[in-house]
This record gives sequence, C-alpha cells and structure tokens, in this order.
Amino acid sequence: MVRVGVARIVPAVHGQRAAMTRAWLIGAGPGDVELITLKATRALAQADVILVDNLVNPDVLQFARADALIVHVGKRGGHPSTPQEGIVAQMLDHLNAGRSVARLKGGDPFVFGRGGEEQQALHAAGIEVEIVSGITAGIAAPAAIGIPVTHRDHAQGVVFVTGHGAGSGEPDWGALAATRMTLVVYMGMRRLNDIVGALLAAGMHADTPCAAIESATRPEQRHVLATLGEFADAVTRAGLGSPAIVVIGGVASLALARAAAASSSDAASSQGRAMKTLSVGIGCRLHTSADEIEIAVRAALGSHAFEEIATVASIETKADERGLLEFCARHALRLKLFSREQIAAISVEEPSAAAREHLGVDGVCEPCALLGASVARTAHLIARKTVYAGVTVAIASTERAQRNIATLIQQDLS
Ligand code: SAH
Repeated sequence: MVRVGVARIVPAVHGQRAAMTRAWLIGAGPGDVELITLKATRALAQADVILVDNLVNPDVLQFARADALIVHVGKRGGHPSTPQEGIVAQMLDHLNAGRSVARLKGGDPFVFGRGGEEQQALHAAGIEVEIVSGITAGIAAPAAIGIPVTHRDHAQGVVFVTGHGAGSGEPDWGALAATRMTLVVYMGMRRLNDIVGALLAAGMHADTPCAAIESATRPEQRHVLATLGEFADAVTRAGLGSPAIVVIGGVASLALARAAAASSSDAASSQGRAMKTLSVGIGCRLHTSADEIEIAVRAALGSHAFEEIATVASIETKADERGLLEFCARHALRLKLFSREQIAAISVEEPSAAAREHLGVDGVCEPCALLGASVARTAHLIARKTVYAGVTVAIASTERAQRNIATLIQQDLS
C-alpha cells in the first residue's frame, strides 16, 4: 500500500482532494538543483507553505507554486535561526488551518538535519509526515571530486559522523580510527584541529589521505587534499570554511587531481549564455495543470537549462487549455499550435493508440517539437517522447535549423 502523508487532523474525504492537508519532510539535495529528486519537486509543486533551511539552494524554489508561502527558518545574514520548537509550531499552525506544509532541508532530511526530531514532534501532535529522501552532502561532496565513500581496495564501510560535538557529546575518535573505515565528517570545520589531533593521538597514520570539500556541487565549490599530518594547516591556508564535508581515509587518494567544480557550475555558466535553441512539444489531457506540465518539461529537459527553451508547441485543440497557457505565460514562452494535418504529416516511431483515438494522429509531442523548431525539416529530436503524470513531452533542437535560416537569409540578400 502506498502511504500518503495525509495529516490526520483533516480526515481525507473521498473525492475531495482540496480538503486534504499533507505534511512533507523533504531533502533538497546538496546544492546542485539537478540533484533534487522528482518526488521532491512534485511535493513542492503541491505545498501551500514551504519552510526552508539555510543550506537549501534557493533555486529549488522554482518548483514551488507561484502562490506558495515561503518561510526561511535557517540562519541568514547573521540572524539567529528560528528555534526548533518554533518551526514545529509554525508547521502545526498551517496544518491546522488546512494548508499543506513542506519542510525543506539541505541534503537528506534524516542525516544531521534534525528531521528525526521534527518527525517525532509532528507524530506527537497526531500528524503523519511523508519523508522525501535527498542526496546527502556526505556522499555527494566526495563524489563531486571523484571520491567514492567506499571502495573494496580502501574501505569496507563508511561512518557519517558530526564534528560539532554538541547534543550527544564528543564522538569517540579513537574508536572511529580503529574501524579503519572511511570517516565522513559533517560540521567539522570549526573543530578540525581537535579532530585531526584526536585521530593522530589514537594512532591513525599521519599519511592518511584527507579531503575537505566546501560548497560541494555549487558553482563556488572548492576543495583541499592533504595527508592527515598536514591537513589542518592546508585547510587553514586555503581559507576553507563552512559548509564543508571532510573525508578521512584511503578513498580520499582517489580524488581527481584537477577536479573541477561540479556540474552545477557548468549548468550555471551555460545558463549565463543560454541559447534559445529548444522546441518543446507537449501533449496533455484536458485540465492538466501548469504545475504538472512544468514538472514534466523539467524532467524531459535533463541537463538542458529551462532558459534554452525557445518555443512550446502543441496541437490546436489545446488552444484553450488553461494549464498549458498558464505554463507558457509563467515563463514568457511562445506557444505554437499546429493542425491535425500538419502533425499527421510527420511520422513517429511509436504510434500511440490513445492519440489516434482522441486526436486522429499517431502522436502529438514529437511532431509538435519538430514543427515548433524554426525549420522543422532540419531540426532533430534530442529527447524522444517521455511521459510524466500523463503529460507527454518531446524536445527538438533548433540549432541546426537556426543556422539554416541564417544561410537562407543570406541567400535572399545576395
Ligand atoms: N542534512 C544535510 C546535513 C545537514 S548538517 C545533508 O544530508 O547533507 C550541515 C552540514 O552538512 C554542513 O556543516 C556541512 O558539513 C554539510 N554540508 C551540507 N551541504 C554541503 C555542501 N553543499 N558542501 C559541503 N558540505 C555540505
């Protein structure tokens, strides 16, 4: 059975979706927007209220509804963070008022995110909360510079440990050193000297490879590699600070020598010079919402940036489809509509029985993606039909087509 996080305070009434309130604890991933899960984007697209922690990349709020209430509860600009009880009290207030609430945390909500405490407090108040896992920084940050946290030649396991020392007290560094497993330290930067000292005192070799990765998977990602004996000095010299993950153990020797900032920086720089070369063909049922279309399009885009979209295209029977119009208006995208005859003239690889029955064509999204490109004959599909929540999306690139137009114009002029 699929357990949906329906808050018990408002009993779900069959057939009345609007009466449901839901509570989610969501992991936003380590920073790179593309490392958030599809499940998280879907929950964000439904939430009335989103309470956001400070380590969350604000760019993920693009998946929120335009009218969602966004509340930042983390430490920002030197202001103290909202106390834990205050956050839970806010969540309960909104839930009691019938609003669905998403609590958005960096990485994974159950890894050093106090998500466990929030779940307990909500349970105590009779609220069931849906957990949406995220990619934790302890795995993503090492991976961003090529370090696998386990490797059969180096470590049989990995220990995630806090360097903070608060709450449950100081970790037993001597015992941890004895495990010979990879140590991944969260919140360890301020006490790095003490941690390194304790490990050396416990007999860990001074030549054990170490890495610190700051702001992993973000454009500003930086890292330091050194042996344990020199690690604390090297980190200080480089001026590395929070948020950073520290990796101690043989696997750190696998770091790529010239690891560049992760894919997010590529994405960011490509966004900066985004060329509008994509045509997005969309097929959807009646009354599909703008949010559903948006999620399906983002899923189909993969590593391409939203800003690369030049055109959205569909069949002319969708001229009054409100969700589609709202989606285009929201992003100032041009919508091109094509007739059944135009669409039928383009063959599709896998004809759809449903499209044939309802619209009299073999498929909508792929032909429309091609037709939406400036010169359909020279455009090519870069994403074949994908289906998400009943929305079909295909993407064509107009890059070659644009060059052809330039050539045609030149020919006209000459
Ligand atoms: N729930 C989060 C961890 C929260 S504790 C997760 O699963 O990732 C906060 C600590 O996480 C920071 O002090 C830092 O050690 C680590 N961290 C979070 N995001 C990071 C990032 N992008 N790069 C490096 N470390 C990060």
